[in-house]
Amino acid sequence: MVLQSTLANFPNTKLSDLSQLSENYDPLEKEYFFDRDPEAFNVIINAISSGELHMPTHICSAIIRQEMEFWKIPLNIVSECCWKVFCQFEEENQIRKNLKQEVEIYESEHRHGMKNSNEMWKNLENPGHSNFSLVR
Ligand SMILES: [Zn+2]
Repeated sequence: MVLQSTLANFPNTKLSDLSQLSENYDPLEKEYFFDRDPEAFNVIINAISSGELHMPTHICSAIIRQEMEFWKIPLNIVSECCWKVFCQFEEENQIRKNLKQEVEIYESEHRHGMKNSNEMWKNLENPGHSNFSLVR
């Protein structure tokens, strides 16, 4: 449970702009309910109340990133000491994407090359197969 005064520390986030008109508000219990991962949510709450986000070691930074996006938490709240961990996922993801792309390019070029050389063999073995082999 979080006090709304704590959330007001961070203006312009989804948490500071909670409205009782929101579909997440339960007028009977007089509280908001969000179906979020409690551990990741805790990290966000701690970050908001302390003004610094520290990366927990047991939660993937991608989850924290999603959580920050969901609550519209600015990236500059990530503390310097945890910035590297926070960015690591993104960097590795980018490297993985680049690699995948390179492999795909290589494979498509390779496949293309194979096709051409097959054609070539056919032509050499069977003159008359195409105009190509008729060229003298
Ligand atoms: Zn830290």
